[in-house]
Parts: sequence; structure tokens; C-alpha cells
Amino acid sequence: MSRVFNFSAGPAVLPEPVLRRAAAEMLDWNGSGMSVMEMSHRGKEFIAIHAEAEALLRELLGIPGNYKVLFMQGGAIGENAIVPMNLIGRTGRADYVSTGDWSERSLAEARKFGTVNVAATSQDTNFTRIPARDTWRLDPGAAYVHVCSNETIRGVQYHWTPDTAGVPLVADMSSDILSRPIDVSRYGLIYAGAQKNMGPSGLTVVIVRDDLLGHALPITPSAFDYRLQAEHDSMYNTPPTYAIYVAGLVLRHVKDLGGLPAVEQHNRAKAKLLYDFLDQSRFFRNEVALQDRSLMNIPFHLKDTALDAAFLKGAQDRGMVQLKGHRISGGMRASIYNAMPIEGVQALVKYMQEFEREHG
Ligand code: PMP
Repeated sequence: MSRVFNFSAGPAVLPEPVLRRAAAEMLDWNGSGMSVMEMSHRGKEFIAIHAEAEALLRELLGIPGNYKVLFMQGGAIGENAIVPMNLIGRTGRADYVSTGDWSERSLAEARKFGTVNVAATSQDTNFTRIPARDTWRLDPGAAYVHVCSNETIRGVQYHWTPDTAGVPLVADMSSDILSRPIDVSRYGLIYAGAQKNMGPSGLTVVIVRDDLLGHALPITPSAFDYRLQAEHDSMYNTPPTYAIYVAGLVLRHVKDLGGLPAVEQHNRAKAKLLYDFLDQSRFFRNEVALQDRSLMNIPFHLKDTALDAAFLKGAQDRGMVQLKGHRISGGMRASIYNAMPIEGVQALVKYMQEFEREHG
């Protein structure tokens, strides 16, 4: 068996010990005589798996007691509708800060449910930065302010938590949750698809402050009503049981590594390797403003796009896959989530050096 260095933006690389454990437990979880996939979500075995995953998430992120953790389905694109359906009703208006393609998707969807004010946007600079907080035009009557903490496609990330003057802050953390410590109490709601840092696709995590429950628009489907899901411990409908189990294994693994401070240090070291190389290269470039560069997704372009295909082919031959950039931005993108080992980034930089020497 040989595993590649997988730079996919998601679904993405998972920690190998997690995959091995899932494989070992595939036919018989913990002496139950069943695969987790075969268990009733209401049985005592799965209830224990579910409770442990939630407890680990609470511990790692330091989630305060007045927040609910919901394990849902529908992904972050689903949440683009589910968030306004649940929250916008309080005032009918919401503020969105647009820093890229995912925040654009979020605000376009929210327009179906209320009045959206684009409080700030970096579209004028092709989404290569986060607009400075003092340029945001926030509406004090907004039901919430929505941001995307890490724009997966163009690699732009917040390295600060916006102050929204008491209006609940909502963040799409799909591509950087669990990559660093955060102060959950600064947010009203956090949502994330699991398939980058947390586990397989199919699971969507929502962390929501208690006072934001119970404001759903009457049209909200019951399965997507946060209050109902909170009242039913995320079991109003059948939750994505196997994805929750694997997420639990990932969370246990993150805890064993030393928790989020240790994970952040590792992520910083990996990103620095690649950015340092890009910054001295005259052949490769990254266009994101220095202070807003993502530690998770690093897009880069070759000086000559005619060489893109040869670059990708050479990478593939060396066991490095999924480096092609998103079709919106072109070029390349290295997604280096928690589970990407530093050896993967070292191998990539070494290959880029060789490629530059040959073609530069
Ligand atoms: N938001 C962000 C920041 C993302 O990275 C993604 C997926 N790449 C999405 C939303 C959409 O996620 P999904 O397709 O799981 O709904």
C-alpha cells in the first residue's frame, strides 16, 4: 500500500491512525458485533459515540455551556439557507462581509429570506484580502453579521475576530475549524462542513448560542430548525452516524496531539515553509495580502500558465495529488489541512524548486 500526499481542498486527507482505527473497527465496534454503520442511532452504542464526539468538540474548542452543538446534514451550502431561515426573522435584515466566492454564495442564498446588506467587500481587489474592520458599514438592526473565516478557493483567512458591537457574529468555518484555538464566546453561531479538518463529508457541525434558538421562519423545514434539533440532541432526524463516529476519532486524535495550540503550531510551520518559498521565487507567486494569507489553502500561480499541466503531471508522478486550483481562480492550490504531514509540504517545496530550476 502506498498513500499519496493529498492536497485536496475537501473532502480531504484524514489522519492515518484514524483511518486504521476505523478499518479495525469496521466489522465489530467495541465488541458490539456490529459496524457503526449498522447501529440504530437510538441504541446505547451510538448514543455513547455521539456523546463522546460532542464532549471532545466542546473540550477542544472550549465551547461554553450556553451553546448547543448540533450534528446536522446539508453541508455549508445547506447552512447558507438554514442560517437565515433560523436567524434573520428577528429583524428581517442581516449584514454580510464578502471576502470571496464562499461568502458570495452565502449572501446570495440569504437574499431569499430577508434583506441582505453587504457591509464590506474585497471584490475590488479580486478577493485577495479581508476588508479592514473600520471600513465595514454595519447595520445596528441586523439580526446577525456573517463572515467566512477562511475562503477556501482564494486562500484568504481572518487572523482576528471581528467586533460586531453586540450583533451576533456568524461564521462559516468549514475550511479552518479545529486548525487553531478560537474564542467561541465571540460568536453567535459557527457552522462547518466536516470534510476538511473534522472527518468525512455528510456531517455539518453547528455551534449556536442558546438565545438564538427559537426564531425560525415559519417556512423552515423541521429537520433544519435549530431549536427542534437542539431539543432532540440532533436526533430529530437520523443523523449522519458514521460521519459522526469518524469525526469523534479525529477529535480524539487532535486531543492526543496536544489540542488546538499544538495543531496551530504545526499548521503555522507548514504554511511558513510554502509561503517562504513562494516569496523568494520569481517563478511562482501567491497574490493574497500578507496579513490575510490562509494557513489552510495556499493558491499559487506559475509565471507561465502553459506549464500548469506539466507541473501537475510531475507532481502526480511524485505522489502529490489534487494540486489543481479551483476553476474560478485557476493555477494551483495546496490545501494543507491539519492531517497533511509536514513531509508533504517539504516534498512539494522540493518539487517546486526543481521545477523552477528546470523551467524558470
Ligand atoms: N464554505 C466553505 C468555506 C467551503 O470551503 C465549502 C466547500 N469547499 C463550502 C462552504 C460548501 O460546502 P458543501 O459543499 O459541503 O456544502
